[in-house]
Amino acid sequence: MRYCRNESPAHVPLKQEISPTWRRMLKVRDRAESFIGWKIGKGDVSFWFDSWTPNGPLASLVPIQGLSSRLVKWFVEDGNWVANRLLLVVPLDILNLILKVPIHPLDMDRAVWKSTINGVFLSKSAWDVIRHRDSVIDWFHGCWSKLLRPSISIFCWRWFFHRLPVDDILQSRGVALVSACHCCRTSESFDHIFFLGNLARAVWSYYSNIFGVHDPHIFGN
Ligand SMILES: [Zn+2]
Repeated sequence: MRYCRNESPAHVPLKQEISPTWRRMLKVRDRAESFIGWKIGKGDVSFWFDSWTPNGPLASLVPIQGLSSRLVKWFVEDGNWVANRLLLVVPLDILNLILKVPIHPLDMDRAVWKSTINGVFLSKSAWDVIRHRDSVIDWFHGCWSKLLRPSISIFCWRWFFHRLPVDDILQSRGVALVSACHCCRTSESFDHIFFLGNLARAVWSYYSNIFGVHDPHIFGN
């Protein structure tokens, strides 16, 4: 990686002269890091910066003592933690935390994704942890009903968000045009076509009697 050289992508500082893509990746790095954990195998992960304790990276728990580039394996012998070596760099409470972390000396170190039960990364689970969840909207299901043709569903969706090529909307986006409604020659607007024009009023009054809707404008924004 051009920007990492010998450093881990997890620790490279944000510099001035970097590409927009790399800048965006670094921005979400901390968020992503909090969901990545390590199962200790041979111990080739960073002692201070990788998240292999249940409480996250050691560097976030205590000040770094000694070499910041130390690997976990420096503190392991014959598959066991070397307590007196650990005590040179961490306090007693952190030592006790570390001694509970299992070591699998015959395996490779393995990154686990904490957001799934089996630790396997799924882009869906990543999306679930970063997405902003809005409350469920009732009309959403009506809009995408299987009873409607796709073109009608898309029209409804665009209608709800006022994304239709109606004259006043086009004008608000800078399109220069002279506006005239096809039925009455007043200027064409979203409200005129769907609520206020004579044709819209006639349609609303016909169906509002059937469906008991008294104020069609409650659907507008
Ligand atoms: Zn009209």
